[in-house]
Amino acid sequence: MKLQTVIQALNRIAPPQYACAWDTQIGLQIGDKNAEIKKILVALDITSALVALAAKQRADLIVAHHALFFRPLESIDLHSPLGKNIAKLIKNDIAVFIAHTNLDAAPDGVNWTLARQYGLTPETCEVLEPTYREQFYKYVVFVPAEAVEAVHGAIAVAGGGHIGKYSDCTFRGAGTGTFRPLAGTRPHIGRQGRLEKTPELRVETIIPVEKISDLLNAVRAKHPYEEIAYDLYPLKNSGRVYGLGLLGQPAPNSKYARYKKIAVASGSGGSLVQRAWDKGAKLLITGEAGYHDQLLAAELGLELKICGHRETEEIVVPILRQKLRAEFPALTVV
Ligand SMILES: [Zn+2]
Repeated sequence: MKLQTVIQALNRIAPPQYACAWDTQIGLQIGDKNAEIKKILVALDITSALVALAAKQRADLIVAHHALFFRPLESIDLHSPLGKNIAKLIKNDIAVFIAHTNLDAAPDGVNWTLARQYGLTPETCEVLEPTYREQFYKYVVFVPAEAVEAVHGAIAVAGGGHIGKYSDCTFRGAGTGTFRPLAGTRPHIGRQGRLEKTPELRVETIIPVEKISDLLNAVRAKHPYEEIAYDLYPLKNSGRVYGLGLLGQPAPNSKYARYKKIAVASGSGGSLVQRAWDKGAKLLITGEAGYHDQLLAAELGLELKICGHRETEEIVVPILRQKLRAEFPALTVV
């Protein structure tokens, strides 16, 4: 399996566009996209112990939550712990891929997992600090009847026509297309210089903004016309919001049900104290909070439950492993 293919799956699991704007150290930190991957190690942090384990177990890729290096490197000092790790990873052909705040925000990511642990239903929770708002376009394409199923297939594969738990959502209307092929054309239907009137279907669907170029390429491969007539309309439909921290009402059987609303924020969630309070939380469960954040919580009357940075994040590691195993049954994921 090429690393590039694994990266595509990781980008579906934790879309990079969900990351915080400051979090630029995500994605491939070390590696060759054409490298062959057989074994993947999933971890929270890339410590020297983990690098040693990866080398011993002949792993080809480490997928971690926290970056190997958080800032651009000015030098690689082979006496420093970081320099030693980088050297060992490269010498052993071990690639490094990071999913950080994009994994915090993703469905089934860190915050969703933490929310479920405390009796919340993440699908219905409000996001405390949005990092990404889904945006949609309406895509309309005019297709001769004989190509409509092929074009429909291309739309579906490219990610068009998804509404909630439904796929393949399109609308087709029949009509007459007109066109006059000019000099230099090689029309699929009609002749140069002559006005053509031909039955066509207007196929319309909805597409998330980040999938538009995939959709256009996929349709181009299946549509028989030399020039494809299509329209893209920006929509005002409000899509899903992704981000850091979740707020909601715990299930009635949860031991936290006595709080009307609770908030969870994986890792360092201290900065979300005010937002959690403003949105009506009576309890914020997080990994760590600084002195002043704790002071603010006490002043507001917001109860803080501090569970440890690692403890609120390592819960996602087995879930990430499961997802990679499901995507790539032929790979070893540990
Ligand atoms: Zn963290």
